[in-house]
Amino acid sequence: MWDLVGQDRVVSLLQRSLETGSLAHAYLLVGPAHVGKMTLALNLAQAVNCEGTGPPCGECASCQRIADGKHADIQVIDLGSADGDPTESESRVKISVEQIEQMQHSASLPPFEGRCKVFILDGAELLSIGAANRLLKTLEEPVGNVIFVLLTVNDKLLPATIVSRCQRVELAPLGITEVENALINRWGVELGRATLLSRLANGCLGWAVSAARDGQLLQQRAETLDKLLDISDAGYEQRFQYAAQLVVSFNQNRGTVLDVLGLWQDWWRDLMLVKVGCSDAITNVDRSAQLSGMNAGYTLDQIRVFIDSIRAAGEQLQLNANPQLALEVLMLNIPEKGKVNNPAPGPR
Ligand SMILES: [Zn+2]
Repeated sequence: MWDLVGQDRVVSLLQRSLETGSLAHAYLLVGPAHVGKMTLALNLAQAVNCEGTGPPCGECASCQRIADGKHADIQVIDLGSADGDPTESESRVKISVEQIEQMQHSASLPPFEGRCKVFILDGAELLSIGAANRLLKTLEEPVGNVIFVLLTVNDKLLPATIVSRCQRVELAPLGITEVENALINRWGVELGRATLLSRLANGCLGWAVSAARDGQLLQQRAETLDKLLDISDAGYEQRFQYAAQLVVSFNQNRGTVLDVLGLWQDWWRDLMLVKVGCSDAITNVDRSAQLSGMNAGYTLDQIRVFIDSIRAAGEQLQLNANPQLALEVLMLNIPEKGKVNNPAPGPR
């Protein structure tokens, strides 16, 4: 059984290809973080190696070894977390070239224990040009028994030559009700908590499930949001200190910093919704009073411009641009409370 929730069209497409023996040699799964790209990639790896009836059965030895990350023919490469020297942002690029070479060599050998080798590349937008060119050669000369699955949050950041060699599969965020129902019916989360998490998840069920299992995640989210709100009112020195902290985190695991920016963007998007009188649609339902209080200090223009700044910073980081520069520019762009309509310096 496919584990992916709320992506019926995608699942039936892959199921049909599986049944008719017409699977592609390379897939590009596109969608926001925590929407289910990795779940789908692993399900596909299970499906092509399953020993049970109704692949992916999830119960045979092969499916279980894949779920446990122990299957010799399934390789997951996460380009987003640096395994090397975390202080060297260059190391991310070097790692990806080396890993592509190793992967090419491994792809040329027959499967070790299953029927089909599957290589999953998470954060494919981070491939360096050199690594992408090497990968392209492999994708242009497909070998039987090998499937490549590339995962990305933004396929516009990938070379067009790579995209054109893959079958593109888009995973859209789920609706709030879909997330809520899945939390209640499949993961046994109680109603009140499911309602809150389904709003905060932005359609990304993976995040909601993790937050339901691990109460600390919600706590960390609250702490990060508090920090971001403090920073919005702080002087430049504090803002740059925070930017420096984010750079360190980014070099260890870029996903955490992209999550922080996502949180910040959601907050300012909520502020815009409150501003235009659409408070019903906000994400941070547990903080509606705080949003209403903050709303008066900013104009709609200020809010809109800053949302664009956050989005731009996120894209720069995805592009592997200089993270320090991108984050410092973002800190400079935080709007000042009560400034635009009143040119004289007003109270903070
Ligand atoms: Zn199975």
